[in-house]
Amino acid sequence: MTNQVKEINRIGIFTSGGDAPGMNAAIRAAVRTALYNGKKVTGIYHGYQGMIENTMFEMNSRSVSSIIQKGGTILKTARCMEFRTPEGRKTAYENLVNAGVDALVAIGGDGTFTGAEVFSKEYDIPVMCIPGTIDNDLNGTDLTIGYDTANNTVIDAIDKIRDTAASHNRLFFIEVMGRDSGCIALNAGVAGGAEAILLPEKETAIDELIDMLEHAADRNKSSMIVIVAEGDKNGGAKDVARRVNEKFDYYDTKVSILGHLQRGGAPSSADRVLATRMGYAAVNELLKGNTRATIGIRGSEIVTTPLEEALSKKELKLNEDLVEIAKIMAL
Ligand code: ATP
Repeated sequence: MTNQVKEINRIGIFTSGGDAPGMNAAIRAAVRTALYNGKKVTGIYHGYQGMIENTMFEMNSRSVSSIIQKGGTILKTARCMEFRTPEGRKTAYENLVNAGVDALVAIGGDGTFTGAEVFSKEYDIPVMCIPGTIDNDLNGTDLTIGYDTANNTVIDAIDKIRDTAASHNRLFFIEVMGRDSGCIALNAGVAGGAEAILLPEKETAIDELIDMLEHAADRNKSSMIVIVAEGDKNGGAKDVARRVNEKFDYYDTKVSILGHLQRGGAPSSADRVLATRMGYAAVNELLKGNTRATIGIRGSEIVTTPLEEALSKKELKLNEDLVEIAKIMAL
């Protein structure tokens, strides 16, 4: 949505919701693009919480030195209940006005986008969002910042677990992040050669899974790995393992829940470059007068999508072909 162009003098930057590797690269790119264009930059700590608590500081190009390779976010992040209230947003707006901030770059997930949309409608402050979450579950983009790194982290864990699983003839259930999105489970499962992948978007009956494992055992597999996305309808990896074990005890069974280590680590090259392109684009879009939108990538092109559109529909991100290929590769 392009509004009448108001001159922007100072851009506020913040990260919000769950952290993701590559957020720092996006911060760096946005800061340096703003400075390059002669604009001032305010860093806001702890997302919307920092606007309310007035934890803001002046950023220069040295504020973002040596952060491109770091996981997490130097601006910290938070989930802020108060920002969901009109009173909280009023305080946030007053603090931004006092700090001279007249536009915002928000890096986060769909909650962050919703907050940005509500806020910019209420106070007519230009805002551009950047998708940062390991889950790859946001609309308006093929990829989110952090997703590639998380996949690499999970593959690394699968490879290591495979070594020990094969030595002991074990069946491992590995739980990965993804409450609503099976993107990490599917991609890392294929890349790690998993025997089965359980996804939130698909129903997998336990009997069907047991059948598949029995057939694999008949083919003399020395180890088996089942990837379970945390949002799978059968429950987490522990539940699935227990139910499978009740009927199928051919292998010694182990469960490994990867948990928060999937969020951390140095961002991959792909995430650093994606974040840099998105941070650069976010500031340029604001300076062109674009607002209330999210930056995304489609194929190799950087695009923008109005927040209203990005928040109103659910894109199916799961690659259906890959779901089928994964089954064949488990032969
Ligand atoms: P992740 O995908 O990692 O969970 P997220 O950005 O979706 O990241 P949320 O905690 O859902 O994380 O949202 C971040 C913050 O955005 C919330 O803590 C809240 O401050 C703000 N927010 C979310 N929804 C709203 C809303 N409806 N109105 C105002 N603010 C909101």
